Amino acid sequence: MPVLTYAENAGGKFKKSTFEAVSYARAIADQTNTSLTAISIGDVSADELNALGKYGADKVLNVSNDQLKQFVNQAYASVIADAAAKEGANIVVLSNSFSGRGLSPRIGVKLQAGIADGAVALPEISGDKFTVKKTAFSGKAFATVQLTSVNKVIALVPNSYKVVEKQTAGKVEDFNADIKQSDLKAIIKEIVQATDKVSLPDAEIVVSGGRGLKGPENWGMIEELAGLLGAATACSKPVSDADWRPHSEHVGQTGIAISPNLYIAVGISGAIQHLAGVSSSKVIVVINKDPEAPFFKVADYGIVGDAFEVVPKLIAAVKEYKA
Ligand code: FAD
Repeated sequence: MPVLTYAENAGGKFKKSTFEAVSYARAIADQTNTSLTAISIGDVSADELNALGKYGADKVLNVSNDQLKQFVNQAYASVIADAAAKEGANIVVLSNSFSGRGLSPRIGVKLQAGIADGAVALPEISGDKFTVKKTAFSGKAFATVQLTSVNKVIALVPNSYKVVEKQTAGKVEDFNADIKQSDLKAIIKEIVQATDKVSLPDAEIVVSGGRGLKGPENWGMIEELAGLLGAATACSKPVSDADWRPHSEHVGQTGIAISPNLYIAVGISGAIQHLAGVSSSKVIVVINKDPEAPFFKVADYGIVGDAFEVVPKLIAAVKEYKA
């Protein structure tokens, strides 16, 4: 029984989180002595498809149906579940991305599978026991769940597993998807790129600002630091509520949950609702003038100081390092 992984693309290019999911699925295939099949849906070039072999896919199923050029949740879930059934795969791995979060429960229902969404580590497999560590309560806690059903769906949190190059010669095959009209209820007609900045959910580094920055006019230094680091920008809820920043940047329990390699929080107190969306970041740096700010309790590095003095110094140091 091979492992099947869904290789998600954005505009025809595979994302880093896709390669993480493929690498993770490869490791599960190795743990269970089986092969790995990847499935790609949409307009993806032959070169891109071949690249999946580099991360461990033995076989790549390519679905290039005109009706599936744009992401349609129900239809994509049907195609992936169909591929799993036809390949005889009992483990499906995908990224816990925005699309992945919509797909995993749908695939789970179609395959009558147990689901571990928000997985952050490889499963522990011992005899019949298949145990996965995953995030719970909007990232406030970790849960260890046992998947007892034969079929299993695992959605991996971006940035929680390293991309591993394997140089497998992935064989690309066309896969004829049987699409039902009932799966095509929502059709995307146009995609408008909101920004050309680094996408927040995929970013490896995020520079985030809170109410301590006093007003929207002070975000120049946050943007400059983010630009120098190749980072995305984010903010706390009150900041987006006050329209200082767009709602698409709001992170936390009621915003986007992120897990970058580095999260730099500037002038953010570290309320539990904010931490819910950022605490699975690998390294957290907190800049706050109040030494008692709760964020320091979860920080890997803390700088007690005025953001308006500390951030310009950081910018200067990064510029000097890059020169
Ligand atoms: P504040 O709490 O006002 O903190 C500002 C910080 O800046 C302080 O720690 C202060 O010491 C520091 N500071 C001030 N001046 C400077 C300076 N010059 N230099 C350095 N530091 C300075 N919040 C979210 O962020 N995300 C969510 O998803 C979210 N969901 C919520 C859901 C619910 C149901 C509720 C009730 C609340 C939610 N909140 C959320 C709000 C949350 O409880 C906090 O109110 C919010 O996170 C505080 O934002 P803040 O840290 O930017 O502002």
